[in-house]
Amino acid sequence: MKLKHTIDINICKGCGLCITVCPKKVLEIADKVSSKGYYPAYQARSEDCIYCAICCTMCPDVAITITESADEAAFKQEMEA
Ligand code: SF4
Ligand code: SF4
Repeated sequence: MKLKHTIDINICKGCGLCITVCPKKVLEIADKVSSKGYYPAYQARSEDCIYCAICCTMCPDVAITITESADEAAFKQEMEA
């Protein structure tokens, strides 16, 4: 099962805490402002994510979730990589 890492930009306040704690340096602050008026975090290097969930645990606003994805196409792509 493929895992999916999601940052809800409508919740994220751009505090940068997740960026600091990510052991793989996956996350960065976007250069575009969200509808809430913040610069949200995003996965700049998603291929490096190891789904350790440290960012999810640390986010004070619980903006980050890791879910199981049933996206078979993406899963197949990963298997062939
Ligand atoms: S799940 Fe882990 S590796 Fe992936 S972005 Fe969050 S802290 Fe970084
Ligand atoms: S810790 Fe949460 S609120 Fe702060 S930048 Fe990361 S996702 Fe956004």
